[in-house]
Amino acid sequence: MTGVFSLLPEGRPGLLATPGDLSSYLAAGGRAPQADPGRLLDRIAAAGLRGRGGAGFPAAVKLRAVRDAPGRPVVVANGEEGEPGSVKDRWLLRHRPHMVLDGLRLAAAVTGAARGYVYLSDATAEQAVRRALIELPGDLGVEVVRTEHTYVAGEETAVVRRVDGGPALPTAKPPRPFENGIGGAPTLVANVETLARVALIHARPDEAADVAGTHLVTLSGAADAALVEAPAGTHLKVLADLCGHGRAEAVLLGGLFGGLYGTGWRDLPLDHDGLIAAGGALGCGALHFLHPENCPVAVATEAAAYLAAQSARQCGVCVSGTGALARTLTAVAHGEASDDTTGQLQRWSQQLPGRGACGLLDAAARIVATLLAHFPERVDAHRGAACLACTDPVAHDGRRFTVRVP
Ligand code: SF4
Repeated sequence: MTGVFSLLPEGRPGLLATPGDLSSYLAAGGRAPQADPGRLLDRIAAAGLRGRGGAGFPAAVKLRAVRDAPGRPVVVANGEEGEPGSVKDRWLLRHRPHMVLDGLRLAAAVTGAARGYVYLSDATAEQAVRRALIELPGDLGVEVVRTEHTYVAGEETAVVRRVDGGPALPTAKPPRPFENGIGGAPTLVANVETLARVALIHARPDEAADVAGTHLVTLSGAADAALVEAPAGTHLKVLADLCGHGRAEAVLLGGLFGGLYGTGWRDLPLDHDGLIAAGGALGCGALHFLHPENCPVAVATEAAAYLAAQSARQCGVCVSGTGALARTLTAVAHGEASDDTTGQLQRWSQQLPGRGACGLLDAAARIVATLLAHFPERVDAHRGAACLACTDPVAHDGRRFTVRVP
């Protein structure tokens, strides 16, 4: 089954069910006047809304930090999803641009910003946003900034750098954008799903907790790909069964960020804290299922090769670290590993996290660590003999994980 599906109970507010055209959006309560931004901020905090770009940081904490920083804030709707297996942000910009812009308007009201940006790389999304901007009321000045599509272009410091006219590459932190962002102003870089949920919380205040407790996820793998909206806590087996992935033996969590998970994946909950407690991560909500014919070593090798190719090559440890992980995994996949290869991979996967300016190096290390933790016997089975599923040339372009926007 390919397409867009809602698993929300009848009547529960969702982004997929909210109409996309302007007149229907207004009729559904969109663009309601904002008389008390402080009250909206309290509502977002009470609902527990967390950012949907990947880190899952509490949205209210970020809004408050930007509001309280010295200087006139700037707000950015970040629609540049670098994970190749995620389509939710491009889908929202293409099909719910009024809702995203409404969320940006509300974020500006909460923080006191007079200037906003929509940051994206997708040409179809750009057209939809530009059309919607013509109909955006109020005095928030909004510009669209186009970037190239790379794994790191949506990282918040890369967003600031690109909007300021530089390359879309991360910078060292601190300072973070909330203290020194675009043009030196305190800057909110908010994922477009987060902003759409802010708009929905404003329109349906009595159901704010339900809105915050719902996720948009992209499912992919050997069967069909789909964009699904589901309540937090939904077991991954329910999502897999929906789209023909019920026979999967493992899952790659959070795009390339959350690592591999083998036995027990079916009972994992769709939830930031639940997945972290299980040793995974939800990230941007992209789930790639591995079917019996998919070798986890091959999947990890392609993921590491893609991340090495996407390294922005600014941090020496990232260039050497991702390159070494990808080369060594390729050797494992081709049956060319030496006696100490597994131990070497283990050491690198523990030493490398946190040493780059962005999360790319962490993602590569986590994929290796989880491959060794969940599939030790599959890794061992490659010693001295290449497995049939690993004989294809290693792709560096992320094609295995890439999903078309439905
Ligand atoms: S960690 Fe890698 S991808 Fe991230 S900024 Fe450094 S070199 Fe670039």
